[in-house]
Amino acid sequence: MKTSPTFLLLLVFPFFLIAQHNEPCDFVSNYSEETWEVLQSPRTTKTFNEVELPIVIHQFSNYSENQVRGIVGQLNNFFNLNETGISFSLCSFIDYDEDLEASRGEIRELSLLHNDPHAVNIYVLKQAGSNGALASFISNGQGWIGLSRFDAGAVGHEMGHYLSLSHTHQWTVPAELVDGSNCEEAGDRHCDTPADPDLHTKVNNNCEYIGTEVDENGDSYDPDTKNLMSYSLSFCRDYFSPEQIEQMQNSIELYYSDYACLTSSTTTPSLADQVAIFPNPTTGIVNLQIPANLSTNELNVKLYNHLGQELMVRKNLDLNEIDCSNLESGLYYLQIYLEKQSIQKQVIRL
Ligand SMILES: [Zn+2]
Repeated sequence: MKTSPTFLLLLVFPFFLIAQHNEPCDFVSNYSEETWEVLQSPRTTKTFNEVELPIVIHQFSNYSENQVRGIVGQLNNFFNLNETGISFSLCSFIDYDEDLEASRGEIRELSLLHNDPHAVNIYVLKQAGSNGALASFISNGQGWIGLSRFDAGAVGHEMGHYLSLSHTHQWTVPAELVDGSNCEEAGDRHCDTPADPDLHTKVNNNCEYIGTEVDENGDSYDPDTKNLMSYSLSFCRDYFSPEQIEQMQNSIELYYSDYACLTSSTTTPSLADQVAIFPNPTTGIVNLQIPANLSTNELNVKLYNHLGQELMVRKNLDLNEIDCSNLESGLYYLQIYLEKQSIQKQVIRL
C-alpha cells in the first residue's frame, strides 16, 4: 500500500499539524427552532437507554486500514470517559479502492449515494474539506462525517456535531455574556458551558486560554479549553458537559430509533456471496470455502475485533483455515483479500 504524503507529514511534523488542529471546521447548523427546542430540552424525568451506534466506514483514501478502524476506539474512549451512555461499534468497513479529495458538497453527494440509513456513516478521504474534519448534523439516514485526519480531539468533535452539538461559540449575535445572563440564546445555547469567544489561536500548548477579549459588559472570558466542541487545540479537548450529553441523547431518540447493523460489508457483493466460512459460530478452526473458479494464489486475511483493532494477519493462506481457538468469545470481523478485492465476514467465537 502506498503511503500518502499527508500521512508522512503526520509522522514527521507532528508540531506543524498541532498548530493546524484548531482551525475552523466549516460547520453549518440547519435545524429549525422547533427542532432545537426538542434537542435542548432537559432530560430531568426521562431515562436514556444506553445505545451502541453502528458505524459504517467508507474508505476513499490510502490511509492504513488499521488507522482508519482506530476511529471507533477513539470515539468509545471519549464517550465512555464522559459517561454518555453512547458507544460505537464497527458495522462495516467498505473500501472503494479509490482516493478522493472532497468538499462539503461533494461529501454530501457521496452520502446520498452510499449512506447506510441505519448507521453512522463516516467517509475517510484523501482530503476532507479544507481542514481534514467536518460533519453534518444527524438526520434521518442522511448524516455523515468526513475525515482525513485521525487526531482524537477532531474525531470526537465531529461526532459531537453529528449528534447535533454546536460549537461552544456558535451563536455570536448576540455574543454569549461571561455572566451567563443570555446563555440560553447565545454560544451553544447551553448554560453549563462558559462563554467562549472562539478559541481559534487563543489556547497555548498547556491548554491555557491566552485571549484578552472582554464581552459587552467588559468582563474577561474564562472559557473551557477542554470542551470537545470548542476550537481549542485538538489534544486539549476531551470533555462534554452534562447538557451537551443530554442534547446528544435527545438527538439519538429523535433521529435514530431504527439504528442497526444490517449490512455485512462488501465492496463486491457477488464475491462475498461466493465465499463461505464455516463453521460459524465456531469454537476453533474456521474454514474458508472458495469456489474453484477463483484464484487463491494471493489469499490474505485479517481478523478484527468489534472495536476495529487488528488481531491477526495471515498472508498467502494455503490451508484455507484460520485458527480462532485463542480468541475470547464474541463477534469478530474477518477481512478476506483475494482476486485483488476485499470482502468482510462476521465470525462468532463461542
Ligand atoms: Zn466544528
